[in-house]
Amino acid sequence: MLINENLVQDIVQEVVAKMQIAEAPGGKHGVFTDMNDAIAAAKASQAVIRRMSLDQREQIISNIRRKTHENAEIIARMGVNETGMGNVGHKILKHKLVADKTPGTEDLKTTAWSGDRGLTLIEMGPFGVIGAITPCTNPSETVICNSIGMIAAGNTVVFNPHPQAIRTSIFALNMINEASLEAGGPDNVACTVEKPTLETSGIMMKHKDIPLLVATGGPGVVTAVLSSGKRGIGAGAGNPPAVVDETADIRKAAEDIVNGCTFDNNLPCIAEKEIVAVESIADELMHYMISEQGCYLISKEEQDRLTATVLTPKGLNRKCVGRDAKTLLGMIGITVPDNIRCIVFEGEKEHPLIAEELMMPILGVVRARDIDDAIEKAVWLEHGNRHSAHIHSKNIDNITKYAREIDTAILVKNAPSYAALGFGGEGYCTFTIASRTGEGLTSTKSFTKSRRCVMSDSLCIR
Ligand code: NAD
Repeated sequence: MLINENLVQDIVQEVVAKMQIAEAPGGKHGVFTDMNDAIAAAKASQAVIRRMSLDQREQIISNIRRKTHENAEIIARMGVNETGMGNVGHKILKHKLVADKTPGTEDLKTTAWSGDRGLTLIEMGPFGVIGAITPCTNPSETVICNSIGMIAAGNTVVFNPHPQAIRTSIFALNMINEASLEAGGPDNVACTVEKPTLETSGIMMKHKDIPLLVATGGPGVVTAVLSSGKRGIGAGAGNPPAVVDETADIRKAAEDIVNGCTFDNNLPCIAEKEIVAVESIADELMHYMISEQGCYLISKEEQDRLTATVLTPKGLNRKCVGRDAKTLLGMIGITVPDNIRCIVFEGEKEHPLIAEELMMPILGVVRARDIDDAIEKAVWLEHGNRHSAHIHSKNIDNITKYAREIDTAILVKNAPSYAALGFGGEGYCTFTIASRTGEGLTSTKSFTKSRRCVMSDSLCIR
């Protein structure tokens, strides 16, 4: 019998990862059975953190970065095994990105006025204990990214992670608390409960010791947080369109869009979810996607079968979210070679596989008469989320018009969507893009409150 070596290797790696998952929650740093206890522990550790020097806080952050690098592969495997979503190699890259490019204490900037009447400072101070809710699509990425920013700002944090990703989230939390302990900081800088539920998140949202809530997820959780009566940062859903006009480098646009769309099997909320292409270049774009970028064109009848498989009457079929193209095609009885990484078809903007945020490597292509028609269609497809949008064009007027009309927190030009996270683009990384509440790409400063510190008639030394 022929044994496929890759298959054996995959099975071995999966078994090893599962054994490590089984051991991971054994380290109980930051893990409680009762949400009230988790909040009390985070409150006690915040009292310590806020008295530590910025240097000491930065040492904790630097330990989190190092440990994230050391554990990138195991944590990526855990995420894929536990949620059934995503791509291990891409998740490793995401964790390294979080470790390297999430801002730390350097993000805290002081504003000063000095003059005859003295010196006034605006300092960015911590809120206290932050309540954070995290998605199953980027579970540990978000836990680590949030923790770095929140702790760097002098807060501690209690998470109510997605139940489908709790073991992966607990592994990340163990790592974060160990990073603090190794830096001489307290345990429980980041806490959670063993079994997060809507009830535990309700306790967190109402708790008197939680002044700030941060929700990363779909519309339900963001609305829940913003209805809590507390200050909330809402990082909600997107449905990012990629517009391609006649001035673009079409071959590169095809490559960039498919690279962005297929990254971690389309799980990132910023990833290209559909294309709007002007008529004159639509065929050429399709040609490059199919002949050079591993895209598989599906017929009308196959579109119907795929629609019935991925969209149930109750909404998205969770068994399809974050799956690769080959698996999705297999679900509708189509066998393709391993190089197929994306499913493509042409359709109207109202097609359910185009209008819905799928989080799967499926790219519907909508034709537009010209750039104005393309912009109108893209704005409709973004559904007012004001989250992310992308364009491939060399016409500055077209880019400017699109940017003004679509009004999103992120707009990537002539690159894959992940350039927005600092991956192949300038700027810092975050996995919490506060589209609903306007902070945009969150960082340490987003988790601070403004404090004015006034010295009258002294300390002006000009
Ligand atoms: P989800 O909305 O199902 O779950 C997100 C989190 O919210 C989970 O922890 C879940 O348990 C919790 N939750 C859901 N409804 C809730 C409610 N009514 N009250 C309290 N908690 C609730 O989303 P998901 O499938 O885990 O993640 C995918 C979604 O998140 C997509 O819509 C994606 O665009 C969005 N997302 C946004 C960002 C961003 O930065 N803006 C980042 C990642 C994901």
